[in-house]
Parts: sequence; structure tokens; C-alpha cells
Amino acid sequence: LNRNPGEMEFHQAVTEVFGALEPVVGRHPEYVEAGILRRMCEPERQIIFRVPWVDDAGRAQVNRGFRVEFNSALGPYKGGLRFHPTVYLGTVKFLGFEQIFKNALTGMPIGGGKGGSDFNPAGRSEGEVMRFCQSFMTELYRHIGEYTDVPAGDVGVGGREIGFLFGQYKRITNRFEAGVLTGKGVSWGGSLVRPEATGYGTVMFADQMLRTRGSSMDGQRVVVSGSGNVAINAIEKAQQLGAVAVTASDSSGFVVDEDGIDLDLLREVKEVRRGRIAEYVEHRGGRSRFVEGGNVWSVPGTVALPSATQNELDEADAKILVENGLVAVAEGANMPCTQKAIELFAEAGVLFGPAKAANAGGVATSALEMQQNASRDSWSFDFTHDRLEQIMTDIHDRCLETADEYGSPGNYVAGANIAGFVKVADAMLAQGLV
Ligand code: NDP
Repeated sequence: LNRNPGEMEFHQAVTEVFGALEPVVGRHPEYVEAGILRRMCEPERQIIFRVPWVDDAGRAQVNRGFRVEFNSALGPYKGGLRFHPTVYLGTVKFLGFEQIFKNALTGMPIGGGKGGSDFNPAGRSEGEVMRFCQSFMTELYRHIGEYTDVPAGDVGVGGREIGFLFGQYKRITNRFEAGVLTGKGVSWGGSLVRPEATGYGTVMFADQMLRTRGSSMDGQRVVVSGSGNVAINAIEKAQQLGAVAVTASDSSGFVVDEDGIDLDLLREVKEVRRGRIAEYVEHRGGRSRFVEGGNVWSVPGTVALPSATQNELDEADAKILVENGLVAVAEGANMPCTQKAIELFAEAGVLFGPAKAANAGGVATSALEMQQNASRDSWSFDFTHDRLEQIMTDIHDRCLETADEYGSPGNYVAGANIAGFVKVADAMLAQGLV
């Protein structure tokens, strides 16, 4: 903790992972002897840089850019870029640390990294976002590459931003190196299903968990937070599997729609107009309502999919959800539930899918995008969707098997952390003290 002062989220993520590793280090003293745990906490490389750009009024603006290249034991660093005013080194390190184990769980040959900036895209014109992205890439380009470090999107970075970043990378390097970024447009090297993959995968994971209790997503009442990439696609897949998703939210409040969220309208408001969630209710009417500044977890549901941001669901929220009949939680966002909330879910017998397993479908499909780029191929929607489904099933089963093997049957948190850790630790041991 003294080594990384003030990096609260990073401490939280390390505590969660290492808390699950006691049975592993007991069985494998060689990990401790080789300093694996201490080495894992120290990123291989951290880059912090100035991002100067000019706003529409002609004023100079300055933001801070980050790229944390955490662990390359299994492959090139891989992880998204987040543009949000709250971003600081502690955010990027927590996300990068989680990413190491998530990527290992996918079974794909990818290491862990993460990046971003404290740039706030909200209210910025397209020209401003483009100039910011170009300036960001003007420094970042020298650190990345298809065999080195492959960034993608995250909060505040979607297809539009990846386009601007890729354009600038191509211009500086004079290379059409498709494999340097994922989340690209389908006509220039992107993969079908990548935009949907995180949300879809989270719901597939929830469905798998429910099936272990003889149930499924069919007929569930689903409470979702967020209204970005993950939330919208989670709602879509939940509906496809016969569930009714009744909520969506953003930082201004939440909507609840007793007839089920109208997905086309939600996409129009958030993806086309880039508006606020209250506009959904203005157009929808009926049995929908907007609760300004409200807590979405007060809405009863049998399945909860926190898909907005870290630490958005705490112990008090978990208590209300359980009292309201909650059966399962799958984390669409990264670390959305606090440790106390997770403990409460476990005590109440609620199925709990942690982010590094439940939301791994996004990065797994990014790895499929890299495969398509490497072979100059592009796969159909159905083919890629089936691959995603298989990957989510495999992750689910691996978590359960590992939890069993290490004496915590049914504990997906233990299973995910241990399975991810062992894979990375073994590769680090084999590669020597680097
Ligand atoms: P988006 O930027 O598309 O959407 C984020 C959503 O969360 C918005 O609705 C946003 O509302 C809301 N939100 C963000 N911060 C807050 C906050 N402090 N309080 C309330 N609401 C907030 O991001 P994504 O959907 O891509 O990402 C969401 C989560 O999923 C993140 O934790 C991300 O790391 C994780 N994730 C994303 C992956 C991906 O493929 N995109 C892959 C794996 C994980 P507002 O617009 O008001 O800020």
C-alpha cells in the first residue's frame, strides 16, 4: 500500500485477487519463492504523458494520458482506453491489473494493460474529440503495435474514437496495421459482434450460472445500470433470451419501464443523439418514469447486471436487492460491486459472476478481431457469435471446475481469480525473472 499511495481502486482490486489465492500459494510455494505475487503487482511499464489540444474556441487545453503495460506473460498487452474526468493512475492500474486475469481466463494469447485520460468527452464537439484523439495518439503510437500493445475502447471510447485514433496511427506510421487497435469499424478491419460482445457475453454468463440451478434467463426480471455500450447490449441479449429488462441509467439518474426497455428508443437517445437518459421517458411515456439522481438498485429484479462503473453497488444496495428477491448478479462493468456487497450476496446464496469472468466476452472478441486481422479474413456474425458463446461457456465451466478443485464449490470469485492467476503465474515462472 505504501508503494502505491492513494491508488484506492488498485488496492481494492489487488486485495480481491490475492484474497482468493490462499489455497493456491499453500499448494505452490514456488510462486512465492519466485516473487510472482510481488512482480504481478508491479506493472512492466507505465507511461504518463501530456495531451495538448485546441478547443473550438481556439483555447489551448491540456489533459493527462496514461498507458499501463501491466503483464505480457501470455501475449501482447491488451486492454481498453478510458476517457472520463475521474481517470487517474489508480483507475488505470486497477483496470490493468484486473485485465491480466480476465485475459488469461479467455484462453486467448493476450497479456494485460489499460490506458486512458482525464479528458471529458461530454459536451465536446466531434471536432474537439477528433483533435484530442489525434494528440493522444501522437504520443501513444510509439508505445503500441500488434505484437507489443493493442488498445481498445472502454468508457468514453467507442467506435468513433477508435476511428480517430486509428487514423492518426496510420498517418504517423504510414502503415495500415489493423492489429494495432481493436473495436474498429467493420469495413476497415473490425469484427462483427465486437460492439455487442461485452453485454452479450455478460448475459450468456448469467444464463450459464442460472442453468446450474435448473433455471435460465428466460422469464427473469432484469435490473441494469448504465446506458452505454455494455448496458445496451446486455439489455438486447437479455430480451433475446426471454427476459424483461426494466431499467437503464446514467450519471443523471435512472429510468424504469414496466413494459420492458424499448431498445430502439434507448439506442436512438444514447447512441445516435448522445443525449441524457431522461429523454427516453419523454418519448416513451406509458409505464416508464425517470428518477433523477435515484438509485437504480431500489428497483426489484431477479437478475442484476451492474454495467456502468466501479463501486456503483454497495452493501446497502445489495441488501435491498436481496430483500426484493434477487437470484443472480453478473458484473458487466469492471468491479461495480464493493467487497462487502459481494460478501452479502454470498451469504444470501445469490449467484455471483465477477467481472473478470462475466464481462470477458468483449476482450475475447477483440482477440477474435486480432485473429481475423492476422489472417486478413472477416467472419460472419453467426460464426463470431457462436465463438463468443463457446468462450463464455468455457470461462463459466473453468471457474466452476477451479473453484471445486481449490475447495470453494460454486464460488465464481475464487474460481475466476485462481484460474486466471495460475495461468499467468506458470507462464511467468517459465519465462524466468523478467
Ligand atoms: P460507456 O462509456 O459506453 O457507458 C458508460 C455508462 O456508464 C454511461 O451510461 C455512463 O453515464 C455510465 N456511468 C459512467 N460513470 C458513471 C458514474 N460515475 N455514475 C453513474 N453512471 C456512470 O462505457 P462502457 O459501456 O463501455 O463501459 C461500462 C463498464 O463496462 C466500465 O466499467 C467498463 O470498464 C466495462 N467494460 C467495458 C467493456 C467494453 O467492451 N466496452 C469491456 C469490459 C468491461 P454518463 O454518460 O452519464 O457518464
